[in-house]
Amino acid sequence: MENPTRCSVIVVGAGISGITAAKVLSENGVEDVLILEAADRIGGRIRKEEFGGVTVELGAGWIAGVGGKQSNPVWELARQSNLRTCLSDYTHARYNIYDHSGKIFPSGVAADSYQKAVESAIQNLRNQKSNPDFAVSETPSGPKSPIELAIDFILHDFEMAEVEPIPTYVDFGEREFLVADERGYEHLLHKMAQTFLFTSEEEEEGQILDTRLKLNKVVRELQHSRNGVVVKTEDGCVYEANYVILSVSIGVLQTRLISFSPPLPRWKTEAISNCDIMVYTKVFLKFPHKFWPCGPGKEFFIYAHERRGYYTFWQHMENAYPGSNILVVTLTNGESKRIEAQSDQETMNEAMEVLRNMFGSDIPDATDILVPRWWNNRFQRGSYSNYPIYVNHQLVDDIKASVGRIFFTGEHTSEKFSGYVHGGYLSGIDTSKALLEEMRKENEKKSENQSYIMEPLLALRGSLTLTQPENLHKFSIPQQLFLHSSKLGFPEAIL
Ligand SMILES: Cc1cc2nc3c(=O)[nH]c(=O)nc-3n(C[C@H](O)[C@H](O)[C@H](O)COP(=O)(O)OP(=O)(O)OC[C@H]3O[C@@H](n4cnc5c(N)ncnc54)[C@H](O)[C@@H]3O)c2cc1C
Repeated sequence: MENPTRCSVIVVGAGISGITAAKVLSENGVEDVLILEAADRIGGRIRKEEFGGVTVELGAGWIAGVGGKQSNPVWELARQSNLRTCLSDYTHARYNIYDHSGKIFPSGVAADSYQKAVESAIQNLRNQKSNPDFAVSETPSGPKSPIELAIDFILHDFEMAEVEPIPTYVDFGEREFLVADERGYEHLLHKMAQTFLFTSEEEEEGQILDTRLKLNKVVRELQHSRNGVVVKTEDGCVYEANYVILSVSIGVLQTRLISFSPPLPRWKTEAISNCDIMVYTKVFLKFPHKFWPCGPGKEFFIYAHERRGYYTFWQHMENAYPGSNILVVTLTNGESKRIEAQSDQETMNEAMEVLRNMFGSDIPDATDILVPRWWNNRFQRGSYSNYPIYVNHQLVDDIKASVGRIFFTGEHTSEKFSGYVHGGYLSGIDTSKALLEEMRKENEKKSENQSYIMEPLLALRGSLTLTQPENLHKFSIPQQLFLHSSKLGFPEAIL
């Protein structure tokens, strides 16, 4: 076991919220921060991978909320890094709905079904508002036909189920840009890390060499008291800090990966378990050539099947990477978990059957497939938080609230922007600011208490024979006074 090393703050997790929180602390003079990350890389749910000759984003892909009066801070970071992005226009997706025989639904039918689905969604929202226990399956007019089910899926599972007005669009604008850059979305995090962590001098993206970032450190236990926090990792290391910022996802908080001693209070554990998790999976398929329609308004297309969410939402990557011959299909929740549990070959077979229904039997087989497994990743357990539509503010407050010296951050702690990259980013700033304020108050209290102790000490100084009067600081207070002052109720921490 390593000897415990004590620092001011330990940040658990190096996703966007953790890196941002550490950066803000460092900019405010708190340099002795240690970042413990379970994975072998930074980025968390922002993650690129090479696939089919291009860089694809397994996690966050879009910068959502662009073009408004106020600038999305993540869009600003992307602009500073010249990140390559493409505008996504979903408006035509509803007119590219295929049935199982490959026919596109006439636009009138699609528009009517869309209208019906929107009305039914609004009715559901009303019902849920008046009765939070209302189950959507209770609606008699709920979606039934394949096209209705497909549109219902798009409304609720693809476009995030949020109540209008959606703060992201109101605050930052309604446009969404897909990141299509070889350096990946995660380049933004590397850039940010470089500003406060020591990095090697490669031109574009240096390696982070700073020992304050420790990868492959799976935090398993947080022992917290009013004096500080002891952090234990899976490999037997022990670290100590005055404070911890915990940035792991709501999915991880719901598991037993990290134990707390003493346990978290009930209001906290209840709030954590009351927040839903969305599983959102982008399956990438590479083909020898393209057989799907391209051109304006064709980037997104929909497959209507009698099973809701069965390979429903498709996107081609020709706009992002022309000539890449890659398709992406999005699955969510139950379907995501189902395909995570089966082999990639089985998923490829299912996807091929659906594509052959849409485009005919002559299309070529996919040559490669990539299936991210966010649900089975024990450092994620899902894709993002999914608050009940009519969220009670207390729930978010409780999820976000600190417990003693443990501060919570991450997209799930953002009331306005949960689920988004900018939610993670802004929560990192908020949490570190709250911690800085707490540290300031603690220091103030300490110096008040110190002068309270020092005054009688200095008065006694003349009458006592002290061997080393010059050593009169908080660590060398004579034993008698130490005992006496603790009886007077001075906080242990300052002694
Ligand atoms: C498939 C998918 C698609 C998405 N699409 C979009 C999108 O298009 N646009 C958008 O804005 N957002 C999107 N998101 C959401 C966005 O990615 C997240 O909101 C954001 O990245 C979360 O950042 P975070 O810092 O809160 O958490 P994370 O990125 O999860 O960071 C937490 C870190 O903690 C680490 N960790 C976990 N457990 C431990 C432990 N025990 N010890 C040490 N470290 C630990 C994890 O490895 C991780 O690195 C998507 C997410 C997914 C998964």
